[in-house]
Amino acid sequence: MRALGDTLILASHNAGKLREIEALVAPHGIKARPISDFSDVEPEETGTTFAENARIKAHAAAKLTGLPALSDDSGLAVEALGGAPGVYTADWAETGNGRDFAMAMTKTHELLEAQNAPHPRKAQFCCTLCIAWPDGQDALFEGRVDGHLTWPMRGENGFGYDPVFIPEGETETFGEMEPARKAPMSHRAAAFALLKAALFDG
Ligand code: IMP
Repeated sequence: MRALGDTLILASHNAGKLREIEALVAPHGIKARPISDFSDVEPEETGTTFAENARIKAHAAAKLTGLPALSDDSGLAVEALGGAPGVYTADWAETGNGRDFAMAMTKTHELLEAQNAPHPRKAQFCCTLCIAWPDGQDALFEGRVDGHLTWPMRGENGFGYDPVFIPEGETETFGEMEPARKAPMSHRAAAFALLKAALFDG
């Protein structure tokens, strides 16, 4: 696997993702810089899979900056909804005037209620990390965390759909957990463990 150098561009404008990725990268002595230091323009996520969208974001950032770039495409897959919202997880929160995740979580809950979905309402958070180099090479790493959805929303921590997701074996939502408790069990950490094994270890 290619070397990374000492600066890694984080190809995300999502504050929640940036916080979590910075914490994962920090112990490896790499300087992480958000793509917003270079540009406010976000590439259109036209893919139909997490991998395609992760590639689009990482390659756009690597090309723009001339540095290796790390992107995260992630989302919630609800079993009784056939895997929705999936790659459209962020889109379900779009209001035309910013994102409203309480609205997106309410929509998810109402769809489950409308079909009288049985409990536990199984769901997974999925994460694909992509590192792209300016010469067009890339590497993908995928992680997930299984759990179920609860209602009403609980907790002020985390971001996105965290207040309705309880990981397997836990009683608290990701929204109720301290960041340091969520971190090792998240889909992002699972993908990062594979990235770390490929790029930082040995
Ligand atoms: P995208 O990868 O930019 O398309 O957005 C993924 C969306 O999935 C985010 O905006 C969040 O709503 C949701 N998401 C991804 N990871 C997490 C997480 O760790 N907790 C809660 N929501 C998440």
